[in-house]
Amino acid sequence: MTDVPAPNVYDAESIPESARAEIDRLLHSGDLFRYTAPQDAPVALLEREFAALMGSKYALAVSSCSAALFLSLKALGLPRGARVLIPAFTFAAVPSAVVHADCHPVLVEVGRNYRVNLDDFAAKLTDDVGAVLISHMRGHTSDMDAIMALADARGVPVIEDAAHSLGTLWSGRKIGTIGKVGCFSFQSYKLVNAGEGGILITDDPDLIAQAVIMSGAYEHNWKKHDILAEAFDRWQNRLPLYNLRMQNLSAAVIRPQLPEVARRVNDGRGNHDYVADQLNASPWLNVPPPLAQEMRAPDSIQFNLDGMSDADVAAFAEVAQANGVKVQVFGMSTNNARAFWNWQFIEGDLPELPDTRAMLMRACDVRLPARLTRSDLDFIAQALVGAAEQVMGVQRAYGT
Ligand SMILES: *Cc1c(COP(=O)(O)O)cnc(C)c1O
Repeated sequence: MTDVPAPNVYDAESIPESARAEIDRLLHSGDLFRYTAPQDAPVALLEREFAALMGSKYALAVSSCSAALFLSLKALGLPRGARVLIPAFTFAAVPSAVVHADCHPVLVEVGRNYRVNLDDFAAKLTDDVGAVLISHMRGHTSDMDAIMALADARGVPVIEDAAHSLGTLWSGRKIGTIGKVGCFSFQSYKLVNAGEGGILITDDPDLIAQAVIMSGAYEHNWKKHDILAEAFDRWQNRLPLYNLRMQNLSAAVIRPQLPEVARRVNDGRGNHDYVADQLNASPWLNVPPPLAQEMRAPDSIQFNLDGMSDADVAAFAEVAQANGVKVQVFGMSTNNARAFWNWQFIEGDLPELPDTRAMLMRACDVRLPARLTRSDLDFIAQALVGAAEQVMGVQRAYGT
């Protein structure tokens, strides 16, 4: 490769300038707790704005997406030990949230296109399943029409883990609004960055009332939420308080980023598709296409290595890194948090999931934030295509 420096794919965008005045005001007044002000605290304003952005009735901002998933499961009132279906391709925090909620995660096979295998999903959706938690891992959307039809037919509630899917559309509908509840992350590697943070959205007044109380709205602090009082009458003093609240500084960092979401989504998709075209021209690299109903909002790219042995895969990752692009092959790195065989905290024997395992052993992950320039993208694409050619040889591509 040339001596052009490799693009930094880890840094986030600067927080908009307009955050400063509000942060200064908060530092000056010391008003950091969401329930001190009588009304319109930054966290409450964030909830109002996020609900409006998503077109949902209610939003609750919390300390992380994991906290949002945990509270969603608790608010469904599942019995202890209830089985919860999750895709076997997700981040370890997702089965962890299920375990934290005293439920048992049941892993569903995921195919080479990173999406839930519907036959395995239907087979595992038995009478003892209390909820379905669909993780839109790396923003890849599984067939939500089929999943909702199967779950609705059995009256099983669906939680969407949209941590990494803010801005994705499914047949024009916003991802996170299709299931009973949708959860998003504001951790730094997601589209909106507050370091840490999460939010859940729903149209269900009973679910939001429980989640608000359990998030730590003790006594009558629920009055500072835009939710009708009667939803709370049933639950006052009857739920544990887990204290998973968001503080005002986080909201002050998040709110000015909401108007940036549309641009980041468009630029991220443009960047992704530009690199995908170059990778797909290589016989060794394959970027699965989106589903027909799906309009993606990616800030990273996943692709499969075709026709490579384990040794070729290792050599590919090494050469790509020498070319300036660090590639993570999900299943090939030690202790990877996205490889289901490392989730040994799940009680009982871990199931064998041959399709998901085969995918993880060849699926690569490269971050591609919206702020990258065309020359950054060319650098990344050439580093990857070049690494595949160096390992596999140019001619073998043409079948000689
Ligand atoms: C990041 C992520 C999470 C966890 O989000 P936190 O806010 O860090 O708890 C869960 N699921 C997916 C798919 C993620 O990408």
